[in-house]
Amino acid sequence: MALEYYQAEVYNIIQETPAVRRFQLRFNDLDVFDFKAGQYVKVDMPLNSTKNYRQYSISSEPKGNNEIELLIVLKEGGDGTEYMFNKVKVGSTLNVSRALGRFVLPDTIDREICFICTGVGLAPFRSMYLDVLNKNIPHKGMHLIFGTRNKQDLCYPDELFALDKEDNNFHYHPVLSREESADWTGKKGYVHPIYKELFAEKPDAIFYLCGWDDMIKEARANLMELGYGRRDILFEKYD
Ligand SMILES: Cc1cc2nc3c(=O)[nH]c(=O)nc-3n(C[C@H](O)[C@H](O)[C@H](O)COP(=O)(O)OP(=O)(O)OC[C@H]3O[C@@H](n4cnc5c(N)ncnc54)[C@H](O)[C@@H]3O)c2cc1C
Repeated sequence: MALEYYQAEVYNIIQETPAVRRFQLRFNDLDVFDFKAGQYVKVDMPLNSTKNYRQYSISSEPKGNNEIELLIVLKEGGDGTEYMFNKVKVGSTLNVSRALGRFVLPDTIDREICFICTGVGLAPFRSMYLDVLNKNIPHKGMHLIFGTRNKQDLCYPDELFALDKEDNNFHYHPVLSREESADWTGKKGYVHPIYKELFAEKPDAIFYLCGWDDMIKEARANLMELGYGRRDILFEKYD
């Protein structure tokens, strides 16, 4: 069956970090763009290649309206991202697929959830945590471990630090691998020691991993070493 595509107007672009942009899209022909938190879309691109689309996770939560947001990092020399960053402007129209993928929350959240990501791997998790919080979906606590290089690379920092402060059941663990400035008093290094410490005693938990292949491989191996099973560890690879 052919994949359904819809026209989306880019109504806003926000430079979130030096390398990452938030693309806000509106489907003017639809009342509601139907999706589950965690799903992705295919965006058609005129790339003169055998693969004329790129996949992007939806970084906004389902609000029952016709708008979504994508969080995209510029890959130097990458055809798709160069198209998104250099050709796509506010007012451009994109051809976007229906929502795809099974990287979504369980129907009932009966244990702790730990989201582990690097860079724009944060995108599907933002959709998930906002969905849980906005709909008051019962849960047993959420941890978001977000690894990136420097303080300036943190995405949605105000939202995440505020949630961590205001919600006793939401724990934000940013970790920076290259930050040298003294005003960063948070964690330094990589994501792996953080979940190893938090889940050392193997509480009942489900893990969601998202980002590039290397991080996912290492995190899966470490979590299995802690005693978690394959079914407790869901992942979405970006490469
Ligand atoms: C499910 C999913 C969700 C994703 N979500 C996000 C997201 O939220 N944000 C984000 O920034 N990125 C996301 N990505 C990664 C994104 O789809 C692109 O891979 C990334 O933007 C780099 O694209 P590029 O064209 O700039 O780089 P490139 O390296 O040029 O291309 C990326 C990939 O496209 C394929 N490709 C390129 N050229 C050809 C060709 N000529 N023929 C066949 N295949 C080719 C290759 O597999 C290559 O690895 C996601 C990927 C997946 C699979």
